[in-house]
Amino acid sequence: MLKCSLCIHDERTAKIDIIDGKPLCRECQVYLKHPLNREAIRRELEELMEKVDRAVIAYSGGKDSTVALYLAKEVYRVPELEAVMVDHGLMAREAIENARRVAEVLEVPFTLLRYDYSDIFREALLKAQSPCRACSKRTMEKLRKYALRNGYHYIITGHELPFGHHPYRVMKDGIIQVRLLSLMPERERLEILKELPFELPELPGYTTNCLVLGPALERYWEVHGHSFEHRRIAALVRYGLMDREKAESEVAKPVVPEGQKKFVYQKLGLDTLFLE
Ligand SMILES: [Zn+2]
Repeated sequence: MLKCSLCIHDERTAKIDIIDGKPLCRECQVYLKHPLNREAIRRELEELMEKVDRAVIAYSGGKDSTVALYLAKEVYRVPELEAVMVDHGLMAREAIENARRVAEVLEVPFTLLRYDYSDIFREALLKAQSPCRACSKRTMEKLRKYALRNGYHYIITGHELPFGHHPYRVMKDGIIQVRLLSLMPERERLEILKELPFELPELPGYTTNCLVLGPALERYWEVHGHSFEHRRIAALVRYGLMDREKAESEVAKPVVPEGQKKFVYQKLGLDTLFLE
């Protein structure tokens, strides 16, 4: 099976061509033709952050948004911040504890909004699809409304820059999402976490907060034979943000602890369908 020589795509997940004697996926071919202007992206982010005086941090209690909170407070020194966590109903308990602890140490007010996204998760598991896009879309919409109600213009998130060329996005009603971790390598994020009271939870899948991801990846693997995170993680490797070995292990079929699986499927009322 052909494997892309730049990222981790192979013939199961992308179209691969031989270019100058080397296998290269279509996404890497586009990237090589239109490379990211890293300097321009960094400058755009710096200029934008100079203007931010008040912001909501989209704070999931996961490692990336924790790093974003740290950067906003300690590096960019945004004068007024509020860390807002949207609990979708199946967050790891450790993530909520991490979130509270880190916000307290950084002296940023912490707000927890609780919702029930069972409909999204149930549908994803039943159809063996990824729940991530629908979940993050709903969360960003909840945060956008929260920002509007409370007079914020900016929402800072722990997103990287997977497929766009700008470190921000203008949302409805003029709210601006700032992707504060644009092009920041994985190892730099881990360095920052070491300085914070953040305990890395043991969860299957590339997550430090979500209980659904593991079971959803497992279901997807069983039906499709690869991870639905393959494309996103391939982009991280392509941009030099994650090394290949780590990426390969992130897209491998996850081993989901029985207890977690049971908890998730029972909570969603799917235990009789999927568990014996
Ligand atoms: Zn590739």
